[in-house]
Amino acid sequence: MQDKINDIKIQFEKELSAVHSSKDLEQIKVKYLGRKGPIQDLMPFLKNCTPEERPVMGKLINDLKEELTRVCEEALNAFQVVEQRARIEKERLDVTLPGRKRFLGRKHPIYLLRDEMISILAGMGFSVQYSPDVDSDYYNYEGLNFPPDHPARDMQDTFYISPDLLLRSHTSNTQVRVMEKHQPPIRIIAPGTVYRNETISSRSHVFFHQIEGLYIAENVTFSDLFATMEEFWSKLFHKQVEARFRPSYFPFVEPGVEVDIKCTSCGGAGCRLCKHTGWLEVAGAGMVHPEVLKNGGIDPEKFSGYAWGMGLERLAMLLYGVKDIRMFAENDLRFLAKF
Ligand SMILES: [Zn+2]
Repeated sequence: MQDKINDIKIQFEKELSAVHSSKDLEQIKVKYLGRKGPIQDLMPFLKNCTPEERPVMGKLINDLKEELTRVCEEALNAFQVVEQRARIEKERLDVTLPGRKRFLGRKHPIYLLRDEMISILAGMGFSVQYSPDVDSDYYNYEGLNFPPDHPARDMQDTFYISPDLLLRSHTSNTQVRVMEKHQPPIRIIAPGTVYRNETISSRSHVFFHQIEGLYIAENVTFSDLFATMEEFWSKLFHKQVEARFRPSYFPFVEPGVEVDIKCTSCGGAGCRLCKHTGWLEVAGAGMVHPEVLKNGGIDPEKFSGYAWGMGLERLAMLLYGVKDIRMFAENDLRFLAKF
């Protein structure tokens, strides 16, 4: 019996020394300690032993079983530690590898300009209002003193969706909407996209951006508009800017003006930027027409106000030296990355 036990031990150790993984070890464990293993095969011999020998032999078999179990467990633990370490090493991130470059998005130049203008105007006490891009004829035209068939409607070629529904042709569709909801003092700006059915060229597009301004209170005068314009443009250009008004006509203001500022490039001497006039045209403006105030439910005897509309693309073209308005709509990254 003792010889058989020794043989089993020797064979076990031999096989154990050839094992290289916990998986192989599990197989050896099953082979030696399982139901069909050599230790189990020793059991029938106990039957042939004398009653005196049987407990001694039984103990030898049990000791062998315990020893093999212990050796297996220890080896298994050792393999598991090594294997876990290897797995962690394999899964380890190499932080020294160069990363894949991701390109960050950035604001469109029109929105850079828009946000700067909003920030200046907000600092001057104007709050931001929005109105719909798709609006009724009333808010875009009729409420602003453009009666049906009024010739001034032809000044802005409009995209009509139905006889009463259109893509707004200017941000002035905000004016009557705001007046209907608020009594003076009203001091708002309305940035937005506007649409006109024009032939696309280097100078005009079917959509562009405006910022509307509206101030209504008691005793608002033309000189308030003038002072506001000079202050705003000076802040935008970070230097004292001189403004001038030229008479113009818009049905919703009386009187109406074009706002020019003295050329920021040549100081008025004349250059390519100002086409040698010394002035840059930057906005349309005027005093809010009494009919428009009435349409908004505001008493024109008691209150007065001014309004302006600034075109962002034209201004951006001046500021950034862009010669073709279409560049702003084409999403060419080579162009956009310059800003
Ligand atoms: Zn100039």
